[in-house]
Amino acid sequence: MIKLKIWGGAGEHGRSCYFFSGEQNRIMLDCGVKKEGVGIYPLLDAEEVSQLTAVFLSHAHEDHSIGLPLLYKHGYKGDIWTTRATSEQLGSYFDSWCRYVNRRGGELPYEERHIDAMTYRYLEDYALPDEWFELSKDLRIKWGRSGHLAGSVWLLLEMEGRKVFFSGDYSRESQLLDADLPTSSIVDLSIIDNAYGMESDPQQVKLEQLTQAAKRVLGAGGHLLLPIPTLGRGQELLIWASELFVEYRIIVEQEIWLGLERMRNWSEWLRAGALQRIEELLNSNKVVIPIDDQERSCLLESDVPSIIFTGDGMMESPRARWYYDQLSQSEKHAVILTGHTARGSFGREVLNKGTLPTGCSVQHICYKVHQGLPDVSMMLNEVPSSQAVLVHAPKEETDLVVARLRDEGHKGLHSLQPGIELDFR
Ligand SMILES: [Zn+2]
Ligand SMILES: [Zn+2]
Repeated sequence: MIKLKIWGGAGEHGRSCYFFSGEQNRIMLDCGVKKEGVGIYPLLDAEEVSQLTAVFLSHAHEDHSIGLPLLYKHGYKGDIWTTRATSEQLGSYFDSWCRYVNRRGGELPYEERHIDAMTYRYLEDYALPDEWFELSKDLRIKWGRSGHLAGSVWLLLEMEGRKVFFSGDYSRESQLLDADLPTSSIVDLSIIDNAYGMESDPQQVKLEQLTQAAKRVLGAGGHLLLPIPTLGRGQELLIWASELFVEYRIIVEQEIWLGLERMRNWSEWLRAGALQRIEELLNSNKVVIPIDDQERSCLLESDVPSIIFTGDGMMESPRARWYYDQLSQSEKHAVILTGHTARGSFGREVLNKGTLPTGCSVQHICYKVHQGLPDVSMMLNEVPSSQAVLVHAPKEETDLVVARLRDEGHKGLHSLQPGIELDFR
């Protein structure tokens, strides 16, 4: 019998953390944080952590990675199985998490030495995508690209005769990143990204909404602020804007530009043609990268309508707030948030205001980097599963999805919460 303990990530957005215990193996998938208050960490059991036999990390985002040093604090001595591209991005996520916690007057639950203690093994050194390899006597694994971030993967484990599929954060609709389709005979248990819950629009519809909104603002002579995470969605939208809005100015903060430069090193994660699109933008003079607030102010005061890319999708960073302070003063300008905003974040706060008293509008138009209802349905057909746990969205939303998919004939679906255990044999 294998037992799954949900230590975070199901019935909520954030702190992805799944613990499996069998006869010989004790395995963890991800160990993230929930970006609320000074951070909410997984429900780790220190004794279980010290006995882990393998740890896997699906990708670098904070809601999957930031809790990992806690494993070393609690006595884990092994490596973290992930990809080289993921490990190369982790440093910047740990730095920005530390700054976030400090700004909120909190304290990290671990020390620098626990971050330094993290060591890695790279999946791509052991097997190609969709190829099995043996980790130990009772544990085989295969992995594939999940199309969510450079280095992001799905995992299929065969542990003590049982198969477990973990989609990681999954998208087959990225403009730049490639995704491998997971293929398998019947899986005993799947953990599937359903961050968008009941949402059913494809990326094309979202991009069209974004295009129309941008055209309205720029056409009326205003600036459009797009606060976005430094890696991932940021580069996707930057390429989109640079190809579509050639007659307007594009202002890009340096960390997003550096992220685009870094993507060149990760070409094995890109779709056919994506590297050329990235190179073309990098070698052009289509964007302005301001060096200080004086230059930023000059750019905003000029009457050339601009799309502005600044870091931090939840607008917590001082720079995102600085832009917001400038633009929120006029009805010509607009802010569009394209991803998840945590409760209590500055982004959520301004989003709740909608249109500000000055007339500046703030709205949310999703750019898809996760799965909605039809995507999950498709994945359940591709990876037939005796049982499946849908994750990455609030419990109430997941309940709706489970009910709908049951009506469509899918069986064995679960909407769970942290602290819940599930046995399967
Ligand atoms: Zn992610
Ligand atoms: Zn995530």
